[in-house]
Amino acid sequence: MKKRNGFAILEALLAPASFGCLACGRRGDPSPVLPGICRKCAAEVPWIERPRCRKCGRPSGCPDCARGSARLSAWICNRSAVAYSDAMRDWLGRYKYRGDQRFAEPLGRMLEQAYLRLAEERGRLERNAAIRGEAAVDAGVLPRAFAWLQNALGAAHPAGPRAGRSWQADLLVPVPVSAVRLGERGFNQAEELACLLAGRQGLEVLPLLARSRHTGKQSFKGRAERIADMKRVFVPDPEAPEMLRRWLAPGPVREGRALRVVVVDDIYTTGATVTACCEALAELLASCGMNMQLYSLTWARS
Ligand SMILES: [Zn+2]
Ligand SMILES: [Zn+2]
Repeated sequence: MKKRNGFAILEALLAPASFGCLACGRRGDPSPVLPGICRKCAAEVPWIERPRCRKCGRPSGCPDCARGSARLSAWICNRSAVAYSDAMRDWLGRYKYRGDQRFAEPLGRMLEQAYLRLAEERGRLERNAAIRGEAAVDAGVLPRAFAWLQNALGAAHPAGPRAGRSWQADLLVPVPVSAVRLGERGFNQAEELACLLAGRQGLEVLPLLARSRHTGKQSFKGRAERIADMKRVFVPDPEAPEMLRRWLAPGPVREGRALRVVVVDDIYTTGATVTACCEALAELLASCGMNMQLYSLTWARS
């Protein structure tokens, strides 16, 4: 780190307004929501406030989910913070490929917005289901009266601390990158964004998955087996059962309801990545005797 000399400190004191936007490079008012970004650039962020596709969180009509691929049933829904516009592609490129770490914070804040929307939406759905006396939504643990009270409080104080707080993820699992990518970039963007979100929302991150290509022993396998192997790009990390055991050790946290696991990635494109991750997670968690609900949270929906 460069040592600041007296002149630089004086300059900073005399010119507190010399804020340069990460995105456009111009001086302007800093956005109160996105650190390092000016108000003008922040105003142009293509937020997905009301996804049209309830499944994958797409802002426009969605032929993919309408086709109803059976593989998509491995997870409940994906929610993304923004549509993958040219500007967003540029921001991500500068962070992910050019290693501009200053983008981590604003991108993390954006992912947090998507998480808060997901939490608010799931909380509302579960409360409504509990009021109707439906047990199916989340193993039916919320007593009806409590749900009604929560709804009433939420309605009375829509911006208060209780709003959207009834639902919280138990676990964030970042999509892993391969060892080669990790070597090239020096960091896993999905994990970094998940950790930023976790730090702000008091959530837990466990890197339960690893990327595996089984390239070494392909020659011993038949064609069908090879294809099956290539589908299994994501596998439980060898340490995953131990990580889960240690995480669950302090005591019974979620008695009676399914574990809420959120897979975190930077972009959702076809859903193939999240599906493969969720299939691996489902197997892992089931083998540890856990009942789970799997979700996907991504920074952008392409
Ligand atoms: Zn700007
Ligand atoms: Zn969709």
